[in-house]
Amino acid sequence: MTTNKIQGGAFGGVEDLYREVILDHFKSPRNKGHLDTCNAKADGTNPLCGDQISLEAKIENNRIKDIRFDGHGCAISQSSASMMTTQLKGKPITSAKALANLFKNIFGIEGDPSVDMSLVNTKDLGDLEALEGVKKYPVRIKCALLAWNTFLELLKKPE
Ligand code: ZN
Repeated sequence: MTTNKIQGGAFGGVEDLYREVILDHFKSPRNKGHLDTCNAKADGTNPLCGDQISLEAKIENNRIKDIRFDGHGCAISQSSASMMTTQLKGKPITSAKALANLFKNIFGIEGDPSVDMSLVNTKDLGDLEALEGVKKYPVRIKCALLAWNTFLELLKKPE
């Protein structure tokens, strides 16, 4: 008896999930590692998938001067962190919060209503737009959002 199953079109479309830009960030993560000095830190986990993210940031004059991440997990979670840190570096906190909202909106999730959304537009998402395909796989949305939710935790902590 053979167990030679041919998996036809059932997995068609998975290429939407793992677009080239996503795999590029996964294989060559940007801003991965630790900062020599930082004044804000947070850790986040997504137990559903086994994803883990640690963030370190240097915040000065309400601006993200530098940010790094470390962690492990699936391509979606790790590439999202790489893309996020790329987009957040140098941004004022206010714009960073607006960007978090904008990213959540992609997946139909409402962000913080007190945030001024006029500070950002979809161009500010950069490579993050590649993660849009994840919305077709609801169980993976937590993977895409892990870095962002960890970032929002980091902002809540006093220095
Ligand atoms: Zn994951």
